[in-house]
Amino acid sequence: MKKYGRSRTKTYAVGALALLAAATGCGSSGGGTPAAAGGTPSTAAHPSGGGAQTPAAAAATTPAAPPAAGDPAAWAKWNLKPLAPAPAAPADKPIKLERTGTVPVFSDVKTADKVVFITIDDGAEKDPKFVEMLTDLKVPVSMFLTRDIVKDNYGYFKPLQALGNHIHNHTVDHAQMSKVPPEKQKSEICDAQSALTQQYGTAPLLFRPPYGDGANTPALNGSVQQCGPRAIVLWCESMQIHDMQYQAADKKLKPGDIVLAHFRGPKDLKGETMTQMFGEMLARIQEQGFAVARLEDYIQAPPA
Ligand SMILES: [Zn+2]
Repeated sequence: MKKYGRSRTKTYAVGALALLAAATGCGSSGGGTPAAAGGTPSTAAHPSGGGAQTPAAAAATTPAAPPAAGDPAAWAKWNLKPLAPAPAAPADKPIKLERTGTVPVFSDVKTADKVVFITIDDGAEKDPKFVEMLTDLKVPVSMFLTRDIVKDNYGYFKPLQALGNHIHNHTVDHAQMSKVPPEKQKSEICDAQSALTQQYGTAPLLFRPPYGDGANTPALNGSVQQCGPRAIVLWCESMQIHDMQYQAADKKLKPGDIVLAHFRGPKDLKGETMTQMFGEMLARIQEQGFAVARLEDYIQAPPA
């Protein structure tokens, strides 16, 4: 796989084949294996087999973030240091989606901004404290919800949505997409799409396959195209309980990385709560000097 040839602007011009070829894992520093390689179903980030990290790529990015700001009292309430404020959203979006045709697959966003993007999946844990936390901290997140995991309480996610956070498609029941035929892929995506659209009043723009599985297959790309989402989104880092798993061998965040977390509670976090896990993730981001930006601010939706 080419690791440095990823120019999204170019990608859209040259069509489906190049798109699929370009859809490697986290690429901005050359780290990470192609997300679909081997189709390993794991919520863990794929360990990088990718060899040496070149500092050259990282050096091309803007080094300095603005000093931390935000409401110090709110951060103190959660025993956290404020994150650096996110820069203004770019006017020229690094990712431009098309109305039709092959959908792009990405796990990071090309940007020099010292930002990462938080995505939260599934929807099992519905901790009211987490709503309070995001209301206090105003950290942007993107939610990839699984219909059958959230349908007992769609309402839980509405105050999170009201904070400006977007809801995206993560199938009906978390099926492993490469293990099911195209018709089933289609119902997994399309049925979740209609339920989420009906519940949240807006059609999900993005899709994430469970475990990242099948993301780069033509079959899944075709299924996504038939259901409405216009991109397949993977990730570079995966939050565990106290720290992230990194695809990059140097275990460092890079500008534009997409971070995966889950709506999980004490049962899945060895007793830690969702807010404890999320606070630890913010601390790991803060100590590396990154801000958290809104993923959708870096994506241009298809023309109407
Ligand atoms: Zn999931």
